[in-house]
Amino acid sequence: MTNPDCIFCKIVAGDIPGDIVHKDDLVTAFRDINPVAPSHILIVPNKHIPDNNTFTEQDEHIAGRIFRIVKLLAEQEGISESGYRLIMNTGPDSHQEVMHMHMHLIGGQGMKYPMG
Ligand code: 5GP
Ligand code: ZN
Repeated sequence: MTNPDCIFCKIVAGDIPGDIVHKDDLVTAFRDINPVAPSHILIVPNKHIPDNNTFTEQDEHIAGRIFRIVKLLAEQEGISESGYRLIMNTGPDSHQEVMHMHMHLIGGQGMKYPMG
């Protein structure tokens, strides 16, 4: 399920370029175009789910995959021990900009937080 107007669906589909660091049957991870830290990766469901409010019981396995891939990517980035933050914005007060659910993996020295 994809949304033709969604930029992250287009990155998942390969229709627009993304610096993809992981892809499997459920999730895709790519580097944020405007990083706030040395490591700033977005992990997104391949399926178009707008935000956490629209996440359903049928999608529970996707959440498990996101957290497992976060761990893998943190190891690859060398930030497992030094530390990282996970952020998932939902709704206007959170300043969610892209309405395709995504987990920010943010790590490395000098992270600018909060964003925006
Ligand atoms: P949000 O505020 O929705 O939680 O975060 C959206 C994130 O997506 C921002 O950090 C922004 O820099 C990133 N972003 C927006 N458009 C693109 C894009 O076309 N490619 C990539 N790689 N990141 C994007
Ligand atoms: Zn989408």
